[in-house]
Amino acid sequence: MLVDLHSHLEGRVRPETAEDLARAAGVAVPVGGWAAALRLDAPTDLTGYLVKVAASYPLFQRLDAIERIAREAVEDAAAAGFDYLELRFGPATHADAERTLAEVIRAAAAGMRTASRATGMPSGLVVAALRHHDEELNLAVARAAAALAGDGVVGFDLAGDELLFPRVEPYREAFRLASAAGLGLTCHAAEAAGASAAREAVELLGATRIGHGAHIADDPETLAWAADSGVVVEVCPTSNHYTGAIAAVSEHPAPVMCDAGVRLVLGDDNPVQTGADLAHERRVLTEVLGWTPDALAALDRDSIDAAFLTDGERHELLARLAGGTGSP
Ligand SMILES: [Zn+2]
Repeated sequence: MLVDLHSHLEGRVRPETAEDLARAAGVAVPVGGWAAALRLDAPTDLTGYLVKVAASYPLFQRLDAIERIAREAVEDAAAAGFDYLELRFGPATHADAERTLAEVIRAAAAGMRTASRATGMPSGLVVAALRHHDEELNLAVARAAAALAGDGVVGFDLAGDELLFPRVEPYREAFRLASAAGLGLTCHAAEAAGASAAREAVELLGATRIGHGAHIADDPETLAWAADSGVVVEVCPTSNHYTGAIAAVSEHPAPVMCDAGVRLVLGDDNPVQTGADLAHERRVLTEVLGWTPDALAALDRDSIDAAFLTDGERHELLARLAGGTGSP
């Protein structure tokens, strides 16, 4: 199955759409063109990686542009054979005096809904608080997301630069608000910071899923805790290589976490920046990291179980998995 539980809207902008939107908005073409501006040509660190993702931000300055980017992201995923796509983004980056947080979130959700209806592939929007934004702004993001719970918004996340802003304490109230609205909770953690960051995200924020968790296996105690707690780790091997979290894809700790009993799901994070989509990441598991058919089957079951789906959508995906009609 192709169930993508960790993917950013800003990481799925078609380069040709970038050109269109930039032209319409009067944004100067970057030296070398948009495809090169968005694509990473070599591994860097998390800060450098996020700078590359931010190259797309000028394209999000209109609501119709946000709607188009979200619609195309879901259309592209469906065309690639995905069974489900969860898309995340930090709306505060794209809101200003002319576009409220609610309008920005609604635009992304509307684009996704249009494409899901047309393609039959379910999708859900995860709204992210950002580490470099202040507490008040992140609370406003949580309120806007909570108000749209069940109306396209399915989850809440904390994203941004964990190297520069490692503490999660300032986001507790935002997560409490999101949880009270019934949103699923995930958090980028232990990607650039150490293993204990994953545990803090679960214990302080109530996250049931951890984005990346690339350093969880560095500490035996945290690894055992992750297995016992049942927390789900969203692994994105190629992205972790590009952010410098791991030295090579072949050194990704997914097999160590899997052997320890940690529940894992898969994401492609920012495929336009890394050039690696979900099908590629699945091949990384089997061809580079030695994933067995049993491990892959467990990943599929955990993916459906941990997705922020409605009960009806979950049953439908489980039926596809049982009937072998999902994507390979
Ligand atoms: Zn991410």
